[in-house]
Amino acid sequence: MDSRRPLIAGNWKMHKTGKQAVDSIRQLKDLTSSVTDVEIMVAPPFTALSQISAELGAGGNIALGAQNMHWESEGAFTGEISANMLKSAGCRYVILGHSERRQFFGETDQTVNKKIKAALSAGLAPVLCVGETEKQRNENKTFNILDKQIKIGLENFVLNALQSLVVAYEPVWAIGTGKTATTDQAQEVHNYLRKWFAKEYGTEFSQKLRILYGGSVKPANIKDLMAMPDIDGALVGGASLDPNSLSQLVHYKS
Ligand code: PEP
Repeated sequence: MDSRRPLIAGNWKMHKTGKQAVDSIRQLKDLTSSVTDVEIMVAPPFTALSQISAELGAGGNIALGAQNMHWESEGAFTGEISANMLKSAGCRYVILGHSERRQFFGETDQTVNKKIKAALSAGLAPVLCVGETEKQRNENKTFNILDKQIKIGLENFVLNALQSLVVAYEPVWAIGTGKTATTDQAQEVHNYLRKWFAKEYGTEFSQKLRILYGGSVKPANIKDLMAMPDIDGALVGGASLDPNSLSQLVHYKS
């Protein structure tokens, strides 16, 4: 487990052709070459993975991630991609259970569970996304929803299997909306999640688990979020598309 080294992850969603993605990575590499105390992850569209992997080469402080995958290793699943394919394309991480997958593509806690299992077997580190909608928050259901998402998402996993797990708390109402959870709101949930993991998997595990915040993170708000004791990084959509902005996020301490 990566002992809570801060992780700033960019989710590029359905943006950038292969060439555009490579151009962005070149700029990002230049802008972040001196950064050693923060891990950077970029999740481009599938079509850019191999090109970016070649551009990144071995070593370096930028890791490659994918935005989704199927739980089967191969077969007649038109349009899908497997964990082994991502691994051989150079991925270290895979984002699973993103709210856009849940909302638009029928992702459920059960399919997330199967995907996490397949990712771990292939040696990919899963970034499990959880979060409540605005309605659920207004109805005081935030913790119930999170309980369900992590309980089912991680059902039947033993402690040893989960060493590479990263969790991302992404309130659905804050994704792509410009609304950010306040630092207190985010910290409250992160602390709740860490306590949940302590109860389920022990304090040692929970103290090492990286819990990222996601939802309209930008250079203007990252410093305050990262100052919270249970926030270990950020999963960033919009503000990660521009390499200058992503670099500013990575340099949140300065
Ligand atoms: C995301 O897609 O995970 C996300 C947090 O998006 P944004 O930063 O644009 O809100």
